Amino acid sequence: MNVISVDGLSKSYGKGTTQVNALHDVTFSINQGELVAVVGASGSGKSTLLHMLGGLDKPSGGYVHIDGENLYELKEKERAVFRRRKIGFIFQSYNLIPVLNVEENIQLPLLLDHRQPDKAYIQDLIQTLGLQERRKHLPSELSGGQQQRVAIGRALAYRPAIVLADEPTGNLDSRNGQEVIELLKLAVRQYHQTVVVITHDMNVAAEASRVLTLQDGRLLSDTSSNGRGV
Ligand code: ADP
Ligand code: ADP
Repeated sequence: MNVISVDGLSKSYGKGTTQVNALHDVTFSINQGELVAVVGASGSGKSTLLHMLGGLDKPSGGYVHIDGENLYELKEKERAVFRRRKIGFIFQSYNLIPVLNVEENIQLPLLLDHRQPDKAYIQDLIQTLGLQERRKHLPSELSGGQQQRVAIGRALAYRPAIVLADEPTGNLDSRNGQEVIELLKLAVRQYHQTVVVITHDMNVAAEASRVLTLQDGRLLSDTSSNGRGV
């Protein structure tokens, strides 16, 4: 079953002489449990695509279906709830809440949704993230690598069907970067989550089961990789 289906997706910003066509007639679909890398030069439309997949910004044309739901037919509020339940975001900036500790930051999406966290899973997640010694610490007391891991924990806490990540290893050294890759692979392998990750990092792209390449807002290629995958 296609968990993500994108059909004729276009997005332009601005009007007239300053109009930018950030995405042009992009079509693809992604199955559950795929780890997909999105690559391409700066300005090729990667972030715009991720925002469209996540319901963060309206397309100018075309459709995005997530789990069979036409994302942009949902009312704004419905889309926000749908997004919180189905999609975990990992941004390059960690967007952690400074007054909440590690554990609270990770559980935030559940708390916002008035849902009881699955304690054993959260415990497990914190362990896997290597944050058990830091669970009561504030973000300001963590290294960059640790903060990124908290952001990943928050994205995974709901066990969302889909994880969207924008350069999750961009600010990390290679050791922390490798750990992040392992966590994303674990999400796919253990929980059958679907991961779409924008990356400039060839190590990340090499781990993906599939690579989408954008060029000037168009889908230049869509390759299933050489079986290395996850
Ligand atoms: P990438 O993530 O591959 O670097 P983006 O999706 O950020 O590419 O940008 C694609 C194009 O759209 C670029 O030309 C960029 O300048 C333009 N763009 C992105 N966001 C906006 C915006 N909010 N307003 C105007 N232009 C934008
Ligand atoms: P990493 O390899 O994850 O980037 P560092 O080498 O930066 O970690 O940090 C080593 C240790 O020092 C970590 O356990 C981290 O928790 C601690 N640490 C780093 N920065 C701070 C800080 N600003 N306040 C408190 N502890 C910190």
